[in-house]
Amino acid sequence: MARVTVDALRKEYDAGSIVAVNDLSLEIEDGEFVTVVGPSGCGKTTTLRMLSGLEQPTSGQIRIGDEDVTDVHAKNRNVAMVFQNYALYPHKTVFENMAFGLRMSTDMSEDEREQRVVETAEMMDIEGLLEDKPDELSGGQKQRVALGRAIVREPDLFLFDEPLSNLDAKLRTSMRAEIQRLQNELGITAVYVTHDQHEAMTMGDRIVILDGGELQQQGAPTEVYENPVNEFVGGFVGSPSMNFVDVAVEPDGDRLHLTGSDGGFEFTLSAAYAGRHENALDSSRYTLGVRPENVSVADAGAANSITATIDVVEPVGSDNFLHLDLSEAFIARVDSDVDLEPGDRVTLTFDESDVHLFDSETGRNVL
Ligand code: ATP
Repeated sequence: MARVTVDALRKEYDAGSIVAVNDLSLEIEDGEFVTVVGPSGCGKTTTLRMLSGLEQPTSGQIRIGDEDVTDVHAKNRNVAMVFQNYALYPHKTVFENMAFGLRMSTDMSEDEREQRVVETAEMMDIEGLLEDKPDELSGGQKQRVALGRAIVREPDLFLFDEPLSNLDAKLRTSMRAEIQRLQNELGITAVYVTHDQHEAMTMGDRIVILDGGELQQQGAPTEVYENPVNEFVGGFVGSPSMNFVDVAVEPDGDRLHLTGSDGGFEFTLSAAYAGRHENALDSSRYTLGVRPENVSVADAGAANSITATIDVVEPVGSDNFLHLDLSEAFIARVDSDVDLEPGDRVTLTFDESDVHLFDSETGRNVL
């Protein structure tokens, strides 16, 4: 396995009219599992294809281990890619599919090759399928074979391009656990692309969030969840999404007084929290962000609260999502024991430590 360094990577298409990836720099440690996530068209696949060598960057540099591989052909990079559509050879058996990549390495005897394939098949629990052809396998089995084929080559770097998207929800959960088990056992260095923020958050040692071809934030999943650098990341990470409320911001001594147009909303941030902002609060518009799971039901008239009518009560097991009739979508995640119905007026509150304040013009988190 190897450390991977991406420096100022850029990819343009159509003579520069499309910038798919812009000035992307990443350091991926040896043995680290990095997930890359973002909305459709944000440049995830292009980034992965540049790492694999299938796509040539317009500028920038990629290093794998000590080697600058920016201009090295895909087949000469010791990188394995696992795709959403499995990309197995339909006329070859599982054994042949797995052995195929090993044939390139001339210094391996036939016996050694067979032993490596069988050992890997055992690790992936597919040893009973070695003589089958891909079309005899289920989607989950095909993806195990595709993973096995990647592992058997012992690459420096694994690249995963939405590998679980074609599987049903249950299988996706078990394959996710399987990939994490392999990661723990083999210590693989991996870049895993997904559009599913939940998958990115649960699988990654580190999560990289892209939008419009640009890096928005990278960090441990909890760090990104708790301290989003901007409104895009705040809204993208977490489910249901962070609630946003337009607010006016007035300094009040050392405190900050926030007033929303909705629900007679008034919130005062104490000096301890108001003092977290590093820059002058000189924007004309701000957006308060608070996560549904941080909102709770309060007594009518409570300070630092928001009052609204419940539109929908959505049960989700032990909790209910309360959808409120504010101008922006606003959801509170509350215990299902709380007896509330659509049409009820409800007062909700949240702790100041769970408040994010974004400059509405730049999107930047100012607290
Ligand atoms: P998705 O989740 O939909 O697969 P993505 O995040 O993987 O999206 P990319 O496929 O990397 O996004 O595409 C990034 C941008 O580059 C998009 O605007 C896309 O239309 C554009 N793009 C990608 N490949 C090409 C190409 N070969 N020619 C022109 N434009 C391209």
